[in-house]
Amino acid sequence: MAVIERIAEIHEEMTAWRRDIHSHPELGFEEARTADLVAAKLAEFGCEVHRGLGKTGVVGSLRIGNSTQAVGLRADMDALPIQEENTFPHHSTHPGKMHACGHDGHTAMLLGAAKYLAETRNFEGQVHFIFQPAEEGLGGADAMIADGLFEKFPCDAIFGMHNRPGLEAGKFAVRSGAMMAGGAFFDIDITGYGTHAARPETGVDSVVVASHIVTALQAIVSRNVCPLDTAVVSTTQIKAGDAYNVIPQTARLSGTVRTFSTEIMQLIEKRMIQIAKGVAEGFGAKAEVDFRMLFAPTVNNEKEADYAAEICNAIVGENQVERNPPLIMASEDFSAMLNKVPGCYLNLGNGLEEGGCEVHNPAYDFNDKVLPLGASFFAKLIETRLAKETL
Ligand SMILES: [Zn+2]
Ligand SMILES: [Zn+2]
Repeated sequence: MAVIERIAEIHEEMTAWRRDIHSHPELGFEEARTADLVAAKLAEFGCEVHRGLGKTGVVGSLRIGNSTQAVGLRADMDALPIQEENTFPHHSTHPGKMHACGHDGHTAMLLGAAKYLAETRNFEGQVHFIFQPAEEGLGGADAMIADGLFEKFPCDAIFGMHNRPGLEAGKFAVRSGAMMAGGAFFDIDITGYGTHAARPETGVDSVVVASHIVTALQAIVSRNVCPLDTAVVSTTQIKAGDAYNVIPQTARLSGTVRTFSTEIMQLIEKRMIQIAKGVAEGFGAKAEVDFRMLFAPTVNNEKEADYAAEICNAIVGENQVERNPPLIMASEDFSAMLNKVPGCYLNLGNGLEEGGCEVHNPAYDFNDKVLPLGASFFAKLIETRLAKETL
């Protein structure tokens, strides 16, 4: 691993930042402490600091020379509503909240790159270090864009990175074109007729209706989506009832849908409404569907993906860079930024063993060993892309 030497020297410091953030996780749009920490570090490094974009978002800008070229580098800062199972010293001190997606690591890596670039100043142009809130389904990227992110900080290209458990530490994965799925959330409200549980014939059981809808929804992917296309329909919440002896009048199903194209997303929405309403009606109940498209598919610009892969090659060597990794069913709201500015989102291996368990798992942890790799990627990208003119 040929990480930048100066970045290797601050490995311990980056680890300390990462663990500090890990032990103080904050949910989307509540990242007050994390944003304070990020803003203080950026100011200390000598960046111009802008706060309040997307509520808790922070942008640090660094300009060297007079070039008008500008590159955006993005990290996310939010944690998840998960009770951490880890017992290591830097475990979460906030009950029910946890950095289970490694955004603590993403933030630490980008801070490391900012520290290095501000110190060495070996580029010409402008870098915007974008620390985004609320990536986990609350629309943090959209909120920053709505607050004028790219008008206030115009970028010619934008790059971001996510750790990936299951990919060896020391490896990068870069894909051009569609890379991650688009995502939608849905709620289905079922209204039956509540009654005594011992006299079901006098009511319409919303729990039975909900159960049939959950099962019927599984037929959308297997029977309506072309087998050559990829889609997921997952019902993840069933809420109904408060008593042993009451058939509840209402039930609510919630979940998520993932696809790699908008057309298939629309097909699924249409079928979900037909199935929910049709099944409910068959039982004498009613169903209302609220279907909300949250993330567009994450699509990398080919030129920028090639560029990013070359930078990875320079750091870890060509055989450590996967150029055609499989599509990822998870979604990423960096897609909203990529819809505005060409760029590339890539993956950094979090390792097969240490931190090898999947993100969003209560035993997950970001692998601190890879901090210098991510920081070196961002730093080298800037030094190459915004290289100083040599006379
Ligand atoms: Zn996540
Ligand atoms: Zn994440």
